[in-house]
Amino acid sequence: MAAAAAAAVATTGERPFDDEAHMREALVEADCAAARHEVPVGAVFIDVDDRTVVARGHNLTNNAMNGARHAELEAVDVLMASVGGAEALARLRRSRLYVTLEPCVMCASALAKVGVASVAFGAWNDKFGGAGSALALHDGWRSAPADAGALREAALRSPYAGRVAPVWPMAGGGVATSASASASTSGIEGEAREPGAWHRYPVVGGVLKGACIEVLKRFYEGGAEGAAAGEV
Ligand SMILES: [Zn+2]
Repeated sequence: MAAAAAAAVATTGERPFDDEAHMREALVEADCAAARHEVPVGAVFIDVDDRTVVARGHNLTNNAMNGARHAELEAVDVLMASVGGAEALARLRRSRLYVTLEPCVMCASALAKVGVASVAFGAWNDKFGGAGSALALHDGWRSAPADAGALREAALRSPYAGRVAPVWPMAGGGVATSASASASTSGIEGEAREPGAWHRYPVVGGVLKGACIEVLKRFYEGGAEGAAAGEV
């Protein structure tokens, strides 16, 4: 079964994603956030095999009065609440995240924890971005905030760029693809990873960047309350 799953990922890995179509779904979520007087950031997780929506969410920091309720984490939490933690992790590890704004350092770290397959984002998050701007947490937790431009270049040159099924170390010295790990019987697959091993995931930025920036501009130019919460 694991071999069949791995073969499926390898095959679909050669089929390019329609990044713009999926980002438009994330933009719908951003519009939902704006309608709720939230900084408009939206996210959708897309299954790498069948390209269906695994989870969706939008920023809810003002409504929840909780600065951690970013779109990515909302989507993760809704999925976990609906199918359970172990199943949610298995699905997230077979998912490519589309988010309208570069994940902040909190979310970029959380995405490594859940083992997302890959990430595509729209606008750069210059101050707080954790996927190449302030930090490059998609490419390892030791990355330092040296020069944002250099980090972005490094991210684009990363050997992980464009890969759908990342490989991470397993306890016992073996390696596992996202597909074979998700087929394991350990429940929460993260437990099977070597302690301290950081899951790296490929990132591409600038997908529908103009539209993703525009939705933020409209929000701020509208004099929205809670603009300070835009520090996402
Ligand atoms: Zn975030």
